[in-house]
Amino acid sequence: QSDRVAHFTQDVWSLFTRLTLENNAVNLGQGFMNFPAPEFIKQAAAVTVNDDPCNQYSVPKGRLRLRQALSATYSPLFGRTLDPENEVVVTAGANEGIFATLAGYLDQGSEVIIFEPYFDQYLPNITMNGGVPVYCPLRIDSHVDRNGVVPSSAWRVDLDELRSKITPRTKIILLNTPHNPVGKVFSEQELRDIGRIAKENNLLIISDEVYDRLVFKPDVHTRIGALNEFWDRTITVGSAGKTFGITGWRIGWLMGPQQLLAPALAAHTRIVFCVNSPLQEAVAIGFEEADKNGFYERQVAEYERRREKLTRAIKQAGLPYTAPAGSYFVLVDTSKIRIPAGFKFPPEIASRGANFEMCYFLCKEIGVTAIPVSEFYSPENAELARDFVRLAFCKTDDLLDEAARRLQKVT
Ligand code: GLN
Repeated sequence: QSDRVAHFTQDVWSLFTRLTLENNAVNLGQGFMNFPAPEFIKQAAAVTVNDDPCNQYSVPKGRLRLRQALSATYSPLFGRTLDPENEVVVTAGANEGIFATLAGYLDQGSEVIIFEPYFDQYLPNITMNGGVPVYCPLRIDSHVDRNGVVPSSAWRVDLDELRSKITPRTKIILLNTPHNPVGKVFSEQELRDIGRIAKENNLLIISDEVYDRLVFKPDVHTRIGALNEFWDRTITVGSAGKTFGITGWRIGWLMGPQQLLAPALAAHTRIVFCVNSPLQEAVAIGFEEADKNGFYERQVAEYERRREKLTRAIKQAGLPYTAPAGSYFVLVDTSKIRIPAGFKFPPEIASRGANFEMCYFLCKEIGVTAIPVSEFYSPENAELARDFVRLAFCKTDDLLDEAARRLQKVT
């Protein structure tokens, strides 16, 4: 095997999916929906697979109808007309979009700044393309009482620390808002501060905004690419999986100025050539419908209710947590949970540290699967994650209720 993959450990998603099944645990681990996709999206797919021209290759940048739908839905959100021919590229999920962008920009040794905790796929996406990750941890505001409910806005970028990470090799700042796993929605001021540092150093900004439709009042989602001074250095990433609750469709997109997208499109063309056509067409229909049927408002209201349900249960269990302003994740502080002496861990867990051990204990003994947040940190900063696990609430009420019951015996 190549040096590129030789150091990979088993991905956290596969590991905890297996443990969930073995222990018959309630799965609040991987962020996927256990409820049906919206009817209008499924109906659309049934139509498009029966439309034969749809069953053949599309052009690499994506089917025209989807690019037009993306332009129609996002142009008002960016406050400028997105040209469907040149300013949108459809990718095989947001992840492939990020991979292709990195492939299009990184040379051997180029540095990419990522904020910890970071979504775990960023790391291999950077290193497989010859890049070097440079870590900038979000710091919890020292005025916040960490024993209660921590607002996700209290997790902040230290701008001096960010500046100190920039070297002549830095090429990209990879942002994520709303943030997985913190649930933080970056404020306009924070984005301007980060954007100005990018501008001063002539860096590209990749803004992963896959949870953009899942932001809870009173917070609002700000797109850094919609701020005029940063449009010409920002590639924004989106996801049908998150927008419509169809994570298995693997359809995402990149948006930005043509000259910025060109290297990403060149790489994308050689990675997958194009994305599966009938589901692209179905997502296009999905956008056309959703823009007029009030889908986003209904969906966010559902998620707000699920967030309430899960955070209430965590509170009743006596655990501190970070209250998410967006996304469908909650970070829970497990420092009060005691694992009985002599509790045995299999080697694939023990070798990955205390945070994995906590999640193994929760899965096996409490019957609730969580994701160890140390997986979202570099070894040098993993200590910052020691007390945190991530629970997902993109789940049905009965699953969340069962998790709530089980969590009550945790402390
Ligand atoms: N985005 C999903 C999450 O954070 C997981 C994606 C994956 O399984 N690679 O739960």
